Amino acid sequence: MACGRARAATQRVRRAARGPVLQRLRTEETPAVFELQCVRRLETSSLRDSLAAAQAWALRHAGREPAHPQFSELARRYRVVTGGGGP
Ligand SMILES: [Zn+2]
Repeated sequence: MACGRARAATQRVRRAARGPVLQRLRTEETPAVFELQCVRRLETSSLRDSLAAAQAWALRHAGREPAHPQFSELARRYRVVTGGGGP
């Protein structure tokens, strides 16, 4: 398959010319995770596998603690660098 080898070589050259790229890592082992933190006393929802689950925790928390209505949101999405000529 000379054609396939030539195409792979061309892709390597293009990648090298553009430099490394940071891309989302989309595998079952690396799903995005979310956390909401009460800004009043820094309690957290802990990491949840959906934003809706973290938001549900925040609503329950604010319901129990009416003086704690503000939260900060953390979203962790895994990424990988490709095309950088790494190991
Ligand atoms: Zn709180």
